[in-house]
Amino acid sequence: MKLLLICGGQSTEHSISRMSCTNIRKSIKDEISVEVMGITKEGSWYKLADEVRDYASENWLEGATEIKDNFAYLKSFDVVFPALHGLYGEDGTIQGILEMCNVPYVGCRVIDSAAAMDKVVAKKLFNAANIKQVPSLYAFKRYDGEFVIINDDTSEDREIVERVKHDLGLPVFIKASRSGSSVGCYKVTREEDILPRLQEAGQYDRKVLIEKAINATELECAVLGNDDLIVSRVGQILPHGEFYTFESKYEDKQSATCIPARVDQSVQDYIRKMAPIAFKAVDGHGLARCDFFLDNDTGEVYLNEINTLPGFTNISMYPMLMADAGIPTTELVDRLIQLALER
Ligand code: ADP
Ligand code: MG
Ligand code: MG
Repeated sequence: MKLLLICGGQSTEHSISRMSCTNIRKSIKDEISVEVMGITKEGSWYKLADEVRDYASENWLEGATEIKDNFAYLKSFDVVFPALHGLYGEDGTIQGILEMCNVPYVGCRVIDSAAAMDKVVAKKLFNAANIKQVPSLYAFKRYDGEFVIINDDTSEDREIVERVKHDLGLPVFIKASRSGSSVGCYKVTREEDILPRLQEAGQYDRKVLIEKAINATELECAVLGNDDLIVSRVGQILPHGEFYTFESKYEDKQSATCIPARVDQSVQDYIRKMAPIAFKAVDGHGLARCDFFLDNDTGEVYLNEINTLPGFTNISMYPMLMADAGIPTTELVDRLIQLALER
């Protein structure tokens, strides 16, 4: 069997994908013949040299050859593992190309990837599945540059600051709809910062979510499968810093995780019940990490988001939760490949 592992990508999470791929590559069984393709931040595709095994290293492109006929190249594999995070990787776009090439691939398909990536769209699907979420408003940057809040009746409200104060109260989180790794995500405590932060988030996406800030314990649950799902125990993020920012996720050695979470069993049971419901709500395939907030003030549990291509770095929760469930990463990668082939 010939497998293509794809790493890098054009998103703000390019570097994370390269770290994930180093681990995934190590976990692929010897029987499988593997090629690794790198997508640069600019979007060029390279077949990486066989000798390279640390894709996070600066020399990842040493000895690489540029791929000219992208479709023909993809079609020459039996299965593809697009280990990309964020835009053009986790959002249904590369999945669409793979569908057109008729090559099986690991993970969520087009609509599930796109829906889970887009926080505004995902909210609507989760709502329809009766999953509790943090109260929010949906803001939108019109093509004339002005931000408006979209009401359910589709009318536009320009009184953004008033609406935020009235409907949600401060502090709030302002986040770009299609982003990840906390890029374009800000906590806003002061009224005067609402509009500037909205503009900043708007640089990543014209759709922006404004959410009531929760005094949250962050809890994560991993699912694996197509029809029948394996649901992991619940893990807890212990972020260092004000919230789980890009830096606290990947650079701050004081951020930590623990499995199982140090919260009531009833909370864990509830999350394990809701994670597959969230996965099915976006019509998920293969894998996802479902992230929840426990509101420390009220005891309420909310679904925050689901990530259809969660990190596989050394400190990533998805492979740790699966290992805890008795599926070490070598077996996990193998099962993901089988799940890609079975559909
Ligand atoms: P991303 O897809 O970038 O991970 P998230 O919605 O998970 O986006 O937000 C990133 C982080 O910001 C979360 O892990 C959490 O630390 C914090 N956060 C986001 N929304 C809220 C909220 N409503 N209340 C409290 N913290 C939040
Ligand atoms: Mg995310
Ligand atoms: Mg998140």
